[in-house]
Amino acid sequence: MKVLVVGSGGREHAIVTSISKSDKVSKIYCAPGNAGIAALAECVDIGVMDFDKLVAFAKEKEIDLVVVAPDDPLVAGAVDAFEAAGIRAFGPRANAAIIEGSKAFSKDLMKKYGIPTAAYENFTDPDSAIKYLETATFPIVLKADGLALGKGVLICNDLEEAKAGVKEIMLDKHFGSAGNTMVIEEFMTGREVSVLCFCDGTTIKPMTSAQDHKRAKDGDQGLNTGGMGTFSPSPFYTKDIDEYCMENIYKPTMAAMKAEGREFKGVLFCGLMMTPNGVKVLEYNARFGDPEAQVVLPRMKNDIIDVMEACIDGTLDKIDLQFEDNAAVCVVLASDGYPVSYKKGYPIHGLENFDGKDDYFVFHAGTKFDGDEIVTNGGRVLGVTAKGKDLFEARANAYAATEWITFDNKYMRHDIGKAIDEQ
Ligand code: ATP
Repeated sequence: MKVLVVGSGGREHAIVTSISKSDKVSKIYCAPGNAGIAALAECVDIGVMDFDKLVAFAKEKEIDLVVVAPDDPLVAGAVDAFEAAGIRAFGPRANAAIIEGSKAFSKDLMKKYGIPTAAYENFTDPDSAIKYLETATFPIVLKADGLALGKGVLICNDLEEAKAGVKEIMLDKHFGSAGNTMVIEEFMTGREVSVLCFCDGTTIKPMTSAQDHKRAKDGDQGLNTGGMGTFSPSPFYTKDIDEYCMENIYKPTMAAMKAEGREFKGVLFCGLMMTPNGVKVLEYNARFGDPEAQVVLPRMKNDIIDVMEACIDGTLDKIDLQFEDNAAVCVVLASDGYPVSYKKGYPIHGLENFDGKDDYFVFHAGTKFDGDEIVTNGGRVLGVTAKGKDLFEARANAYAATEWITFDNKYMRHDIGKAIDEQ
């Protein structure tokens, strides 16, 4: 079987790594891929939004399965484009990916179907938003409706900050048309957990849990990033909480999307907060999280192709989804200065140290070939993942493995997984 993966980051490297373990797969392509993915797949220089070229390539190579990994092409209808050409594709169609593409949509969906989430109002007019804020309780959360690279969320401590936020999102259009509509949401407190779920439109099966670290600096200081590291499972996401979420969040979300005529197939990422008043949904994403995929997929026992095909065919109920009874930690090696400004093009040394070590992975995010050499080519450069019998061992292993890699301007957080000390 021939598989095409669309995307180019650490998440895609983790997906390609899992696919490469399937006996069913004879050839993997990745568009556009990166220098690490190139060791497992043939990388083709087609952008993730160039649907015409992607479809033409898939037809020409007689691809049996396409996996669309990033949010932008999913929300813009990449899966619909492949399906229209008769090509099997894993991921939600555009009418279901809207659950990530529009926060106003997802909030309205949760309200309509009684799925627990923060209280909110949607606004299309800045004056009404400010009027609402004048009598609101602070802190309060402003969210640009559309995709904003994870940066369209502002937590405002007082009215002045909130007014500046409305200007930034709705008037100055800092996040472009993503800010045409804005959600104003109640501020919640509690531990966050990410649960990625496989879905076939009717059945939903949660994977093992994970916890992300979004801020750039130790102690959750600094700017928001795409994610500086993650660990799995979350020791705070207990069996009872999982059962609660299954009955009150996962199954109802699946049923709600079906009832709306928006069957969700693919991976539904539930960003949850365990508040003093119970678990509530912070956000949905319509795809594997990054770097969550880098700790969840290495622990999955199933053949990922079987699971993806079951999602497409509506037979997920027949799959016994299983994860190893261990733990994994991923530490992101970034370029110093990320997420603001940073230099690229530095040679990366030590990648070969990961060869032949089953419990260690180095997932490439921002790398490229410069001649024969692999050099830095992005803010997030590599994700170093290690497994261990428990979270403590996995964390020690992951930090030890970060020392195997050197490059100029290497930067990482030193407190990934610190929360596990509070168990
Ligand atoms: P990403 O796609 O990168 O996960 P996003 O832009 O879709 O991010 P959210 O996940 O909705 O945004 O919010 C980002 C972060 O902001 C959350 O992980 C959480 O820490 C914080 N946050 C969002 N909503 C709330 C809320 N209602 N109360 C408290 N914190 C919140």
